[in-house]
Amino acid sequence: MRSEIHVKVPSKLVNKYKGGYPLISKQVMERTSDLEEGQLISLVDESNSFIAKGYYGKQNKGYGWVLTKNKNEKIDQLFFERKIKAALDKRQSFFKNEDTNAFRVFNGEGDGIGGFTIDYFNGYYLINWYSKGIYSFFDYVITSLKNLTQYKAIYQKKRFRADGKFIEEDGYVDGERGQFPIIVKENGVNFAVYFNEEAMVGVFLDQRDVRRTIRDKYAKGRTVLNTFSYTGAFSVFAALGGAVKTTSVDLANRSLPKTIEQFSVNGLDYEAHDIIVEDVFHYFKYAVKKKLKFDMVILDPPSFARSKKFTFSAEKDYKNLLKEAISITEKNGIIVASTNSASFDMKKFKGFIETAFKESNSKYTIVEEFSLPEDFQTIKQFKEGNYLKVVFIKKA
Ligand code: SAH
Repeated sequence: MRSEIHVKVPSKLVNKYKGGYPLISKQVMERTSDLEEGQLISLVDESNSFIAKGYYGKQNKGYGWVLTKNKNEKIDQLFFERKIKAALDKRQSFFKNEDTNAFRVFNGEGDGIGGFTIDYFNGYYLINWYSKGIYSFFDYVITSLKNLTQYKAIYQKKRFRADGKFIEEDGYVDGERGQFPIIVKENGVNFAVYFNEEAMVGVFLDQRDVRRTIRDKYAKGRTVLNTFSYTGAFSVFAALGGAVKTTSVDLANRSLPKTIEQFSVNGLDYEAHDIIVEDVFHYFKYAVKKKLKFDMVILDPPSFARSKKFTFSAEKDYKNLLKEAISITEKNGIIVASTNSASFDMKKFKGFIETAFKESNSKYTIVEEFSLPEDFQTIKQFKEGNYLKVVFIKKA
């Protein structure tokens, strides 16, 4: 059994942890040093009474996660198996859905254990580990999956590696090796998915409802500009929904073959669409110069990005990104504004929208709003966990 060490929580934070806040923050760990990753920690108050138990695991968000508020609960194989079983049970409707076989089955702290996630892709389970600390529980997680599921194979990515290498060999853990790409389905649409590349596998599962809404309610008859397009997932859904034409723009060279592939695995003629490898901010200037306008503009930038000429931070620059989009959106056109930045909330995001339209002397109405879908479970004590914000804006 692992030993536990006691860490005194600063008194101003005691109530927060008593209320179920799951992230062990830097402030809590300030007076503690030389911990081993995966070390169990008991959080105690000034008079040494127990508050909660967790583990030490350094990641970008904090220094570990609370696992239980029950002093006597053991952090062992059965603990992990109970949490993973509960998470699988919650996704039963997803497992039964014949049109979708790619979804999240375990969402870190939202399912009771922060620091890792498990995604399901048509029989394959992919684990993302976000700290060395949680990775020290590898055996518990793998044994749980063995006991609870029938998988083709388990794969993993170590997202904590400082050298940016997420995968050793191909990330294979157990079962029968996959042939990449494996083809998965989302609301009847195919995706080619690779576990053996970098951090990203080809599809961001959290945008499922947004993609379906674009296809089913907004694409028909529209010209669509999809910026920061990656594998062109939004473009493919727009094309399937009857868009007149899609234009996908992404800076990364890989986006061209990847987007061609996504169109192709859905039987769509990619040559009828534009796929452009370019800095989005260049493209906006080009579009303005050529007086190009679109009926729908999709914005899905990373929270932070650096290109040769620009640095982009969603929190600082989203308003200006919106202004660029507004200037090339047709009247009555739709702007889909998306961000996965956890550093601001929906209210602030809507503030960016308000200011951008004001400064563009333009009017708008909000027609759709999304946060994380159901399989990306979150808890109310950790609002930042619900990072996704997507707003469909109709330009008046
Ligand atoms: N919308 C995509 C996901 C976007 S991921 C989807 O639904 O699948 C973010 C993408 O932004 C990456 O592919 C990255 O290459 C691209 N990117 C980052 N900075 C960029 C820039 N300045 N111009 C164009 N693309 C950029």
